Amino acid sequence: MTLAPWHADNWQRLLARRAQDRLPHALLLCGAAGLGQREFAERLAAMILCERDDAPCGTCHACHLYAQRFQRDPEETRPDGMLSQPHGHPGHPDARFVGHALNEKSSPKKMYTELTVDQIRDLSAWLVLPPQLGRAQVALIDPADELNVAASNALLKTLEEPGERRHLVLVSSRPARLSATIRSRCQRVEFHLPAREQAQAWRRQAEAATGRADAAAEQRLKHTEALMTPVKPGNAVNAAQHVWSYFKGSADKNTRLRFDKLINKVSMGESTIPMKRLLLKLAEAQQQHYLLNSLYFMKLL
Ligand SMILES: [Zn+2]
Repeated sequence: MTLAPWHADNWQRLLARRAQDRLPHALLLCGAAGLGQREFAERLAAMILCERDDAPCGTCHACHLYAQRFQRDPEETRPDGMLSQPHGHPGHPDARFVGHALNEKSSPKKMYTELTVDQIRDLSAWLVLPPQLGRAQVALIDPADELNVAASNALLKTLEEPGERRHLVLVSSRPARLSATIRSRCQRVEFHLPAREQAQAWRRQAEAATGRADAAAEQRLKHTEALMTPVKPGNAVNAAQHVWSYFKGSADKNTRLRFDKLINKVSMGESTIPMKRLLLKLAEAQQQHYLLNSLYFMKLL
């Protein structure tokens, strides 16, 4: 998990807190979707679990276990079709990721459309067990704003009596949807849109490191620019066309036809979900993970 330059300040602050052994028990990472909060949260969990001072070192036993990832079968997805755990569940026994999960009781099997009280009860029961590797336990809840009322109440209890070396990291692009009591029990970490110069500097740095124009850095810059380009809020057609502009050059004829059809439907006021799915598939094919999480999917589409 690499950090973007606009993560640096938040990261340094938390690193300093770790060095003083004063990392908050509950953190709420918030800001517009698409700024890499999830990647930040995962790296933060690695920092908490790592056995060395230069955490996360990437080489110790804890870091190795944490880097081992798996998806459940069937793959868990959010209501918008994205993977609940974009980088998988961690193999470290003291780390847990909570997101949209499968409703085992449903037939045919379906994903829950919210985070449920059973998930939080499981989590709380796990948090009272001693850490298996001894250092700490860390749980990541994403998207925290999808906790339903019962789950949110259950989580409050855990937040009120956090055990020693137990850390909860909540990720939310819509923190206003969280209950005020939950928000008040978490230390807030805000993510802001980067300045254009910062994004461009990042790209130049990547180019200098490789000695040539870096296609991946180019893409990342495009994402950043996409996030910074104003699109009329709430206008799904406008937003979809904006995202599409990144993919249409490489799309085949069928995909183009499909996009035209879907955008017509959206402009007639039909659901935006099939459109999101199509854009999502294109983004996945090009490994545009930042774009997958972008404003357009989460807010505008
Ligand atoms: Zn380590």
